[in-house]
Order: sequence, then C-alpha cells, then structure tokens
Amino acid sequence: MEELPGRRTVEAVLPCLGEWLDRAHGGVGYRMTQILTGHGCFGEYLGRIGRKESRKCHHCDHQWDDAQHTLADCPAWMDERADLVAAVGRNLTLPMVVSAIVGSEEK
Ligand SMILES: [Zn+2]
Repeated sequence: MEELPGRRTVEAVLPCLGEWLDRAHGGVGYRMTQILTGHGCFGEYLGRIGRKESRKCHHCDHQWDDAQHTLADCPAWMDERADLVAAVGRNLTLPMVVSAIVGSEEK
C-alpha cells in the first residue's frame, strides 16, 4: 500500500515530539532509521525506487515487505522481536513502539 512520504514517521513521532526532542537517552541508528522511515531493505521500498521488481519479502516470501512487516510479522526477525516485545509489549505499531522507547532509556 502506498502512503504519503514520511506520513508513518510523523504519525509515530508527532504525538510524543516533545518527549522525543527532550529525551536524554536513545540515538537513532541505522536500523532504527530504516524502521522509522520505511526506507531500507524492504521489498516495498526497493520496488518503489526501482531497485527490485517484486515487493515480496526476501526472508519469508510474504507478498508485501515493508518496515511494519519486519517490525511485527516477519518470522526471520522472531528472536529480535521477542526481545522487543519483552521490553515494550505486544503492540508493535510504530506509534506504540516510539511512545515506549521515548519514555524509557531501557526500552
Ligand atoms: Zn518476511
């Protein structure tokens, strides 16, 4: 599904923008940037920029690979997701994950 550029990121960060800007912990590294922006090694993004014909996941053959698939669904990331769920809970929508991590250095 197509969406406006940056919309997903804005919807996740805007509700806690003050906390995001004022927090004394947590940087945004390479992988976090990919999950936040959707710009990365995702079939949807690579297809949109003309680098890949299929938008399927190259890990599990899911028909649509995007940042949310990697964050919440793709079996290839099950171990990493278990650590994330243990830290932030089962709601892995981007706004919930961002809200959890801005409120806690540990998360
Ligand atoms: Zn997958």
